Amino acid sequence: ASPGSIKTFKLNDGRDMPGIGLGTWLGFISTNRNTKSDEVENAVKWAIDAGYRHIDTASIYDTEDQVGNAINKKIAEGAVKREDLFVTTKLWNDAHAPYTVLPALRNSLKKLNLDYVDMYLIHWPIAQYLNGTFYDVDYLETWEAMIAVQKKGLAKSIGVSNFNIAMLERLISNSRVKPANLQVEINLNLQQPELLEYCKEQNIVVTGYTPFGSIFPNRARIEAPPPRVDDPKLVDIANKYNKTVPQIVLRYLVELNIIPIPKTITKSRVEQNIDIFDFKLTQEERDLFKSYDKNYRTIEPKMWQESPYYPFEKKNPSLTHDENLITFSNGNILAPKLK
Ligand code: NDP
Repeated sequence: ASPGSIKTFKLNDGRDMPGIGLGTWLGFISTNRNTKSDEVENAVKWAIDAGYRHIDTASIYDTEDQVGNAINKKIAEGAVKREDLFVTTKLWNDAHAPYTVLPALRNSLKKLNLDYVDMYLIHWPIAQYLNGTFYDVDYLETWEAMIAVQKKGLAKSIGVSNFNIAMLERLISNSRVKPANLQVEINLNLQQPELLEYCKEQNIVVTGYTPFGSIFPNRARIEAPPPRVDDPKLVDIANKYNKTVPQIVLRYLVELNIIPIPKTITKSRVEQNIDIFDFKLTQEERDLFKSYDKNYRTIEPKMWQESPYYPFEKKNPSLTHDENLITFSNGNILAPKLK
């Protein structure tokens, strides 16, 4: 896709945000997987060549250095200019104390080897040390420090991630700067219509993470609702447009007016996932996609439920970290990465 054919969103601070991005979280630690040191760097280079202008990373992902290497090499090659790229990174839970926000962003910028990021997000409303203990910082205080780093020009835009409607309302009514962007999980099983409506009213652009949700069997928990990628109805729709099921799923998300940030480190998929701006679903097809919305979360950090700032519905307050291990349909068992 040429960058010109990709939808862009006007943020409430006047800046533009490209309507699709590349995700770079490598996922939960798997017992049978080793991270190669250049797999994300390669993916970001392929992405820029394929027309992506928006890359999503975070300090906790441990991929900022690879994202930065790819971007700086592509800029040096003359393939793209810094001002044409949109780079998002995120403040981790261990740096919510206001005086730690600027050092945390400087650290991210150092790893990225960039002078500024386009979007800096509070990753979660929860303040928590790396050893897992919660500490008491209200996200309203953290937000004031976010405003300060934006004033310094180190983050052109600022926003939040994993905030619920009540938290957004509280943030908006208690501070001078409205978040420009909210990043939350959006996929077929979790379409969040009320949250999207609220953000539309407030002029907050929404980025949708984990856009594929549970469509791939190796990612779907046993209890995850359908559909899977081989669902005959989805395969039919995909064939009709000469696209793949992952592509029509991303297309549906684009038509919800959100910005999907699919992650892949596979070249053909990097190219495939952005090739979704040359067709449009019918109302009937959108209705089918809508019927898969089951308010089901793929990313649900139940071990954080005891935090006063846990953003989601609490399920079982007595869950321990071990009980939060995730069992997948293919038998893989993964533990959430706490670092
Ligand atoms: P995704 O929904 O993007 O799914 C990623 C998985 O799908 C990978 O296993 C990838 O495989 C596979 N895949 C991608 N494209 C295709 C395709 N066309 N066909 C078949 N398989 C495909 O999950 P993520 O959880 O990674 O979410 C995306 C991004 O959102 C993250 O990378 C991160 O940047 C962000 N995020 C933010 C969070 C937050 O708290 N703010 C939480 C979670 C995610 P492979 O790579 O092997 O090709």
